[in-house]
Amino acid sequence: MIMFVGPAGAGKSVQGQLLAVCHQLTWLSAGKLLRETNDPQVYEVMARGELVSPALVNRVIFHHLDDQPELDNIIIDGYPRSLEQAQALSEYSQQRMGRECIDFVVVFDVTADEIFQRLSLRGRLDDTREVIEHRLESYKADTLPLVNYYAERGAKVVHINGIGSRGEVLDRIESAYNDYRAMRPAEAADANH
Ligand code: AMP
Repeated sequence: MIMFVGPAGAGKSVQGQLLAVCHQLTWLSAGKLLRETNDPQVYEVMARGELVSPALVNRVIFHHLDDQPELDNIIIDGYPRSLEQAQALSEYSQQRMGRECIDFVVVFDVTADEIFQRLSLRGRLDDTREVIEHRLESYKADTLPLVNYYAERGAKVVHINGIGSRGEVLDRIESAYNDYRAMRPAEAADANH
């Protein structure tokens, strides 16, 4: 499973969908699945830029993962976002496949200035300056430490410069993805056939 990590506005979702189409992967976005719950209480938390409770996020994510025959072909976007979520996912994948499912982590490096500029154009309800700042803080404090969590568990970690055109950024990800495919253990690659 490929994990996309980056602050809101880094381009994870656009790039995740493009990579998924190019390589017949399944793109799963935690934010999108949470919005689809249509739960007003969930919306309230999201509007403040805070993290939705791990119990709820885990339930929503595991429910969708249960429907996927193959965890290796998934790009997971926006999940896990905290150590607690990562530990729950580790437990889920240990039970399901006897190992950690996340073996490739793509970190989008984008400056805070660029994020503010992009999100002011996007204009989603949760894109006010205060909420963006809040999400950036939560990203640094809760989510970035997960990069080490997965590196320690043997995942390949790559940092991608997220600044540039869609095509330029996709080329960078593609090249890292091809390197990852080339070094992927045979058992994981075989599972695709
Ligand atoms: P996103 O679409 O990734 O920008 O997420 C939008 C909002 O959904 C976030 O600001 C959070 O409020 C919530 N959210 C998304 N993913 C998670 C997660 N893994 N854990 C908790 N809350 C999340």
